[in-house]
Amino acid sequence: MSKRRTLVSANWKMNGSLDSIRQLVRAISQGMTQETEPEVIICPPSVYISELAEILKKTDIGLGAQNVSHLECGAHTGEVAPTMLKDFACKYVIVGHSERRMFYSENDSRIAEKFVAVQANGMIPILCVGELLEERESDCTKEVISRQLDAVIELAGIMAFKEAIIAYEPVWAIGTGKTAIPEQAQEIHEFIRSRLARHDHEIADGIRILYGGSVKADNAKQLFELADIDGGLIGGASLVADDFLTICHSAR
Ligand code: PEP
Repeated sequence: MSKRRTLVSANWKMNGSLDSIRQLVRAISQGMTQETEPEVIICPPSVYISELAEILKKTDIGLGAQNVSHLECGAHTGEVAPTMLKDFACKYVIVGHSERRMFYSENDSRIAEKFVAVQANGMIPILCVGELLEERESDCTKEVISRQLDAVIELAGIMAFKEAIIAYEPVWAIGTGKTAIPEQAQEIHEFIRSRLARHDHEIADGIRILYGGSVKADNAKQLFELADIDGGLIGGASLVADDFLTICHSAR
């Protein structure tokens, strides 16, 4: 029996207003029952982190950020430093989301630096890895995932994964409505665990690997039941309280 506690994380991306995020978080926290819920994290747009920190203080829901600078401070207009997130009791930070890799040119080594900066400030990175459609079609999925993982292992060391979460997000499944079929997802989750096990079996066994990519209320349960899937990173469906709650309940 796995001792890994299921984790469901909401990635709200660049959506919402102060009003709508207040309503959404209240609806989610009111819909959660204490017993046997999975661990839940919400990652709002960064300007709403202080507001959410206040609201979430009275709940069991954790607070995360969607991105962070790899630097500590200085002349970096528009960036948010890890210490600033920590000021608001932010516990988790997503690093290496495919939208950051694709639209903001974040490469493997920059993502590894962010991973290290997050941990250096006492927070937990949620490291996203995943292949593009053309990489899957040319049978390069495992090669891509290995490269993305190895960049972080090289810089941070395998022991750093003791306090980290990995999210496998096939890029072709994000926001497209196409979910990896359970067998495809399980195969890659198992592969990620085995890749870490080459370095350390305990780390590989203990780490939580989330699946992300069009997880919805009606497909979450069959994904969460799989041996190496320890929860989900949820985009679109986390913007609708009832859908997100159904996903959380299906992780019980
Ligand atoms: C995501 O943003 O990481 C994501 C998985 O989005 P969606 O659930 O909308 O595919």
